[in-house]
Amino acid sequence: MDLKFSPEELQFQLEVRRFLQENLPQNVVDAAQRGSSVFIEKDIALEWQAILVKKGWAVPGWPVEHGGNDWTPSQKYLFSLECYRAGAPMLIPLGLMMLAPVIMAFGTEKQKAKYLPKILSGEHYWCQGYSEPGSGSDLASLSLKAESDGEDYILNGSKIWTTHAHFADHIFCLVRTHNGEKPQQGISFLLIDMSTPGVEVKPIITMAGDHETNQVFFDNVRVPKANRIGEENKGWTYAKYLLEFERGGGFSANRIRQEINHVKKIASRLESENASFDRSGDIERRIARIEIDLKSLEITELRILSALADGGAPGAESSILKLNTTRLEQAVNELAMEMVGYEALAMDATEDGSSYRKDYASSITPRYLNNRAASIFGGSQEVQRNIIAKMVLGL
Ligand SMILES: Cc1cc2nc3c(=O)[nH]c(=O)nc-3n(C[C@H](O)[C@H](O)[C@H](O)COP(=O)(O)OP(=O)(O)OC[C@H]3O[C@@H](n4cnc5c(N)ncnc54)[C@H](O)[C@@H]3O)c2cc1C
Repeated sequence: MDLKFSPEELQFQLEVRRFLQENLPQNVVDAAQRGSSVFIEKDIALEWQAILVKKGWAVPGWPVEHGGNDWTPSQKYLFSLECYRAGAPMLIPLGLMMLAPVIMAFGTEKQKAKYLPKILSGEHYWCQGYSEPGSGSDLASLSLKAESDGEDYILNGSKIWTTHAHFADHIFCLVRTHNGEKPQQGISFLLIDMSTPGVEVKPIITMAGDHETNQVFFDNVRVPKANRIGEENKGWTYAKYLLEFERGGGFSANRIRQEINHVKKIASRLESENASFDRSGDIERRIARIEIDLKSLEITELRILSALADGGAPGAESSILKLNTTRLEQAVNELAMEMVGYEALAMDATEDGSSYRKDYASSITPRYLNNRAASIFGGSQEVQRNIIAKMVLGL
């Protein structure tokens, strides 16, 4: 792949930059800056999504027939670069980047017509019902039971760690429709309206103090078989396809580059304020190390994007992205925590209402705590290594 941009591509970059200058609202940038959670607040995300939809730039990765763009990999890269530079948040990927490719690849024409426009417009807000109390890394052991009853299934069981289930009006779920010889056999993939009687959402508050995740209970929930994606008992195939999009296919290197730039700004400020922090050169060395690793992550992302442009799925290589994105993001979080030292303590205000914490330190601790989960969700680091060993290296 040629990594130099053509004059047309550089022109496109300027067009994107101008669009962002004129259309990216400041409240959206501020929310992205203060946010510590995996996903930005729902209302802010949908506000930004609506602006991009109006411009026709919300889903560059989708085929044109469904509202995507016929951009080259370089254009997609430049678009993402400019968005992160301008401080725009990532759109919430659950419907747009994870479920939609599955519906496009395996859904019926009726399902495509029903769901894709509503995912794009934001009318449907989705959550992911994969994990269960006894099934996380060993996802295929899942046991939420879906019993056949005429044209419907009756569901009993629960899903756990369901991000944004308290905001979602729909959930895509893996359910057990058959106990086959292998646990992977007998799983089906269902699309469920959260307002169906018998669905109950209970919050789980994380150590960062955020309400992001939930446990979702299903008590005799009736779901039409017409809401099943693909064949009964073949859901494992569709589930794995979705995970490839969850773990890869984006441009995380650009996002992390903005975060490391932020850390550099804090370092300059500490320097100018003559604050006490480690000046031994260790910080510079660690920043340089992260920047070198970021370059290699970026090249891998471009390689995968190039494959996607030819109509492929991200493949097992997406595990390389998930592994390295997480490692680098957590390295940036740790560096920021160490740099600001005791300023990172989670104390926002004294009794008289004045703040102990410097403004630049306010999001560092919440981000550090929240991002500990990145090495667990979407499949833990150990699980990604197992996939790379088996599927990429053939060990
Ligand atoms: C913040 C957050 C948000 C989440 N959001 C969602 C969501 O929206 N939807 C959803 O379905 N799920 C979600 N999850 C669940 C997530 O996918 C699971 O937590 C994850 O797959 C790990 O499963 P587990 O928690 O059961 O841990 P376990 O599978 O019990 O793992 C425990 C430890 O054992 C290690 N381990 C397990 N098996 C192996 C192995 N074969 N080889 C080596 N090491 C192994 C793991 O790496 C881990 O360190 C979320 C989790 C978190 C923390």
